[in-house]
Amino acid sequence: MSINIEPLRKILELEHKKGYVDSAVIGGLDRFLRNWAGQAIESITSPQLLNRLHKLNLANSSYASLTEQQRKEWVKGVVDFLAEVERREGEKGEAKLTPVVSRPPSRTRVPRTVVSQSIDSSITVIRGISSSLATKFNKLGVKTVRDLLYFFPHRHLDYSQRKSISQLTEGEEETIIANVWQAQEIRLGGRRSTEAIVGDETGNVRVVWFNNPYLAKQLATNTRVVISGKVSLFNGRHVFESPEWELVEDRELIHTGRLVPLYPLTQGLRPRQVRKVMKEVIDQWARQVEDFLPLELKKRCNLLELPQAISQAHYPENEEVKAQARVRLAFDELFLLQLGVLSKKRTWQEGQPGSPFSAKTPVLDAFVKSLPFELTAAQQKVLNELLADLQKPQPMSRLLQGEVGSGKTVVATAALLVAAANGFQGALMAPTEILAEQHFATICQLLSRVGHQEEGADYLYNYSGLLSRPLTVALLIGDINQVRKQELQQRILDGDIDIVIGTHALIQKGVEFRRLGLAVVDEQHRFGVTQRSALRQKGFSPHVLVMTATPIPRTLALTLYGDLDLSVIDQLPPGRQVIKTKWLKPGQRDSAYAFIRRQVASGRQAFIICPLVEESEIIQARAAIAEYERLSEEVFPDLRLGLLHGRMSADEKDKMMRRFRSGELNILVATPVVEVGIDVPNATVMMVESADRFGLSQLHQFRGRVGRGEEQSYCMLLAQNPSEIARQRLDIIEKIQDGFELAEEDLRLRGPGEFFGTRQSGLPDLRMAKLSDVGLLELARSEAIRLFEQDKGLEKPEYSLLAKELARVWPEAGEWS
Ligand code: ADP
Ligand code: MG
Repeated sequence: MSINIEPLRKILELEHKKGYVDSAVIGGLDRFLRNWAGQAIESITSPQLLNRLHKLNLANSSYASLTEQQRKEWVKGVVDFLAEVERREGEKGEAKLTPVVSRPPSRTRVPRTVVSQSIDSSITVIRGISSSLATKFNKLGVKTVRDLLYFFPHRHLDYSQRKSISQLTEGEEETIIANVWQAQEIRLGGRRSTEAIVGDETGNVRVVWFNNPYLAKQLATNTRVVISGKVSLFNGRHVFESPEWELVEDRELIHTGRLVPLYPLTQGLRPRQVRKVMKEVIDQWARQVEDFLPLELKKRCNLLELPQAISQAHYPENEEVKAQARVRLAFDELFLLQLGVLSKKRTWQEGQPGSPFSAKTPVLDAFVKSLPFELTAAQQKVLNELLADLQKPQPMSRLLQGEVGSGKTVVATAALLVAAANGFQGALMAPTEILAEQHFATICQLLSRVGHQEEGADYLYNYSGLLSRPLTVALLIGDINQVRKQELQQRILDGDIDIVIGTHALIQKGVEFRRLGLAVVDEQHRFGVTQRSALRQKGFSPHVLVMTATPIPRTLALTLYGDLDLSVIDQLPPGRQVIKTKWLKPGQRDSAYAFIRRQVASGRQAFIICPLVEESEIIQARAAIAEYERLSEEVFPDLRLGLLHGRMSADEKDKMMRRFRSGELNILVATPVVEVGIDVPNATVMMVESADRFGLSQLHQFRGRVGRGEEQSYCMLLAQNPSEIARQRLDIIEKIQDGFELAEEDLRLRGPGEFFGTRQSGLPDLRMAKLSDVGLLELARSEAIRLFEQDKGLEKPEYSLLAKELARVWPEAGEWS
């Protein structure tokens, strides 16, 4: 064995450079020298050199106590000695340290393809995966080789930029290649740990691995290692704490010195172990994945090959390729998703031909002319889109988005009139009875401007002068008495009622239509995929218009409702004001009440939304009653207050709403369950209790209840003790008025699952695709449409792999393969 003189020489050079202040090595030179001398004595064979070594007395070195001048001379003595050792040992031809360079990556192994193994085999076919390891992977949902190939890291650490030790920056994730000068077991915080001093030509740095004493043995002096990790500061010096490390050897780096993948782990899986397995599986199997995208599409969209994308997603060469890999894989997800939803739409449209309407009907013009306002350009555009759909033989399937108050109801009413003029029935469904009632009132009011309202019951009106026969509009909700209800149901079945307004119960319970031609569904997010298909499976193939006042970001809409075409009213009627929104601290409650009092004094009205109680409607109602009593007795004893909650009967609610709307009440106290869908132009204050517990979209809905008249309106949000995320929400809602922008923020803060309150089911996982990938989503959609136009059944041979893949990821979507 020969001694390695290089580390010592480097340290001494450094000591010289730094001016002999004993800073070249952590812990001081003496400690290092004692250690070094111990090894040197064992390995030096020349008696002469040994003699000199003894004279230097390194083993009892006291460098620390020397003066600067003494240190200088001493260092020079040692350096000369080293030169001598080098010369002598060199003669023997063995002492020189050959720099170890990292060699190019090993050749990719040829996969051991045995006929019986495919990428759908169990992961146990992979070299290095025992059955116990396989069980652990199974817990992460990884069963087959394919699963493993698609088991992507959630992120990468960028260890690709090698630094020299002198360039290290505290707090940064850095990578160095260095020599181990010394490694030993030490105790840190009572735990057996490893400490090493490593160095390169620019300096040395201390590295510790907590809780891992065994590493000391693996890091023999002079081993070359790559260290990647965060640089921290300890006693004024840089230190790596438990960094990733690996030997510089004849193979590709997998833990350090590159973009290093971080995988989701489960108990019993260690990061290094998973990385090793992943590297193995990628080298062995990635190239066996069949690329199912048609060549031409790949070229047109400039996408990576699938095997390359998979391996680059795990072990990317650089950020750029990594990004390309993500694009390819995200494209796949979105493209398959779009193909799936399009095929659903196709099955539905082809399975049940719809009823084409004629849009040339005088009643439409008369209606539009009778409105007390001009349609906005956005309303007109959307109306045209609807009319175009209604004239087609395939049933319409459209999502209409528009801010609260953007005028969706008017547009929907026009479409319902077209249905009636064509001899079909129309239905308008709302999520709550209150909202159904409101729609009924609004529509009746609009119709009475153009037709002549005959005598009627309060749940049924006839209008003459619109069609060749009277037009009949009815409200069907659970709360009306049984006799009336049965009568209504019978008349709907007879085709005697043209437009029915109600809750979703309209299509879920025993209501049967004679000729349902158009179903308008308000509030999409409470009316999911299942209800939509329930409607379709009822034996009708009506045109369907889904309306939502919760602005859904375009990407999400296309992702979740790709089977719907999208229309947006992206413009409010002129003259809508900015609602001044303020988040108030608990201490400001009294001044908020004083503010409400002043508004009331000048003739305005206010809403107070009760604290959100997460439990049942009963408990909510109780809380609301208590709050109502407190406010009436203690805060506003001289004002007229009303209460609205979900446990009241429709009749009671209706009475209360009327009293508020008529101005008889000053303040309406309401539970959040009742997303008070009432139009009260004179209401100028919306006060929301425990606002921190509502999502942005819901707060925006509340806010939309005011600002409907001429007067400046206000939204006051009270929050007791908001969490960090709630604070962010409150800050955002104070600043942003636009519902779409808020929706994007909401999505960002809450994620798509929570965005809708409940997780939407029946959709394949999106692992790589992000909802912010608008461009990619649109590309995937347009490519899916293009493909569908060319070959709906994916029957051409060049699409056979694609058809197979689609059937695999989305078996229920269509009849492929
Ligand atoms: P949405 O259903 O989108 O919340 P509505 O259709 O209920 O909106 O309309 C909100 C209010 O704005 C109603 O009072 C309606 O009469 C009025 N409105 C609708 N369209 C216009 C318009 N183009 N110009 C002025 N007011 C309008
Ligand atoms: Mg509305």
